[in-house]
Amino acid sequence: MNTTQQLLIKNILQAPIQDDPNQEIVYAGTLRFTYAQFRERVARLAAALMAQGVGPGDTVAVMDYDSHRYLECYFAIPMIGAVLHTINIRLSPEQMVYTIGHAEDDVILVNSDFLPLLEQIRGRLDTVEKFILLTDGGDAPATSLPLAGEYEALLAASTPLADFPDFDENTRATTFYTTGTTGLPKGVYFSHRQLVLHTLGGLAALGSNATQGRFHREDVYMPITPMFHVHAWGIPYMATMLGVKQVYPGRYIPEVLARLISTEKVTFSHCVPTILHMLLTDPKCAQYDLSRWRVVIGGAAMPKAICAAALDRGIDAFTGYGMSETCPILSLSHLSDAELQLDRDAQIALRSRTGKSLPMVQLRLVDDEGREVPRDDRTPGALQVRAPWLTASYLKDESNSKRLWTDGWLNTGDVACRNAEGSLRITDRTKDVIKVGGEWVSSLEMEDIILQHPDVAEAAVIGRPDLRWGETPLALVVPKPGAAPQEKEIVQHVKGFVDRGVLPKEAVLLRARLVDAIARTSVGKTNKVAMREMYLKDVEE
Ligand code: AMP
Repeated sequence: MNTTQQLLIKNILQAPIQDDPNQEIVYAGTLRFTYAQFRERVARLAAALMAQGVGPGDTVAVMDYDSHRYLECYFAIPMIGAVLHTINIRLSPEQMVYTIGHAEDDVILVNSDFLPLLEQIRGRLDTVEKFILLTDGGDAPATSLPLAGEYEALLAASTPLADFPDFDENTRATTFYTTGTTGLPKGVYFSHRQLVLHTLGGLAALGSNATQGRFHREDVYMPITPMFHVHAWGIPYMATMLGVKQVYPGRYIPEVLARLISTEKVTFSHCVPTILHMLLTDPKCAQYDLSRWRVVIGGAAMPKAICAAALDRGIDAFTGYGMSETCPILSLSHLSDAELQLDRDAQIALRSRTGKSLPMVQLRLVDDEGREVPRDDRTPGALQVRAPWLTASYLKDESNSKRLWTDGWLNTGDVACRNAEGSLRITDRTKDVIKVGGEWVSSLEMEDIILQHPDVAEAAVIGRPDLRWGETPLALVVPKPGAAPQEKEIVQHVKGFVDRGVLPKEAVLLRARLVDAIARTSVGKTNKVAMREMYLKDVEE
């Protein structure tokens, strides 16, 4: 008898259903399900998809906001041996046609809000055989798409699948596309084994800190990074394995998010800095109590000014780091109990670092010759990683895959420093590095400092070609409403940090320019490629 158990996504569901089947899963504050109902709905969805002809190896795509239905898809689709493609709902129609064709989607489950978009590109979706409608109810929307059914009706009509099959843990479970700033989107993919190990590794890291930033059984969880983006950092799988109450917010509206945090007593979330900034500055959110809330900030560096504003509201904000190619989580910036006794500024600095690696993650920082750089928190190196949950390659893309891996290490494309305690600090994307007179000046560090100026709402720093220095930093600054800081005030502010030895002296060569908005990618990250295009076209070297 073979007693070895494969690491399959269905295993994530076992303990919570046995231990507390009455625990809740809430959608938008209106629909409430127990874990027992959730388990049954997963089994119904699996049977319904099989009745539609979905089998092992087929690809089922989802276009939805963060919902309980999306969570059901996270389980049911891979559990029948099919591949879940989480479609980025913010892609342009052209990119959507490309990713749907490239992933060879067979079926698309689509929220009624995105029907017009699919209608527009339908003639070019060659692989897709069926569309299934996701809706919160009400009248069926008029559409020219041939719908194979509506999700709730299909679930109601199906007999729950009694047993989910066993298969090889290396079977592909999910796929999605990176939202790069140049070129075509690149597909990444993860197996059952990788997702289970990422779930365990993430829980081990998040649960092991003594006090600060723990994720534990008593928590109430709500994602605020889209479920299409790297499985919402894999945390819905962790939350389900823990069996905690989960809240899915639907479309992100700042006031709704703040209200749900307060009324559903959400204690644990994750989001990008831009969303945290919105929650902290939107006047409609001010009335809600956020003081029980712990939030992992990732996807981009957390500016210290945002961390300070979060702490003022009683929010326990700290950093997580990862990327689409890495499932995603690689490191976290937990504070020890001793560090929690440090003064506020020291804590903010620690919370905004990139942090220490998760269990089973190996990190190394190398120079141009591939030698490891010293752990002095000053010498930057290219960050390479190893872990059991990294994408094996880009989907059907040999040349980019070759660049992704070097000698068994995945090239993150990030530049970072590491201190003697092993804590990382990302200073740039490799392609955004600014070299002034041969010295690397960290654009992220400069942005962080410029954001501490009282008149600055948003900032991005890019390298401006310069005959003498090679490059000098150019700050693009969005002022706070009613403010209009002068270029020399910004430069003076930055100079204060150079005088204190926080920034290298090359930073005083900074120029600043007021702009209306910072260009962003489809997931809200600063788009420096677009900004170089917009602001440097006519710059003479
Ligand atoms: P994506 O694949 O779209 O999730 O983007 C991954 C990239 O986002 C990483 O390679 C980093 O450049 C950046 N990133 C993610 N988390 C952080 C963080 N905590 N600090 C700085 N940069 C980050």
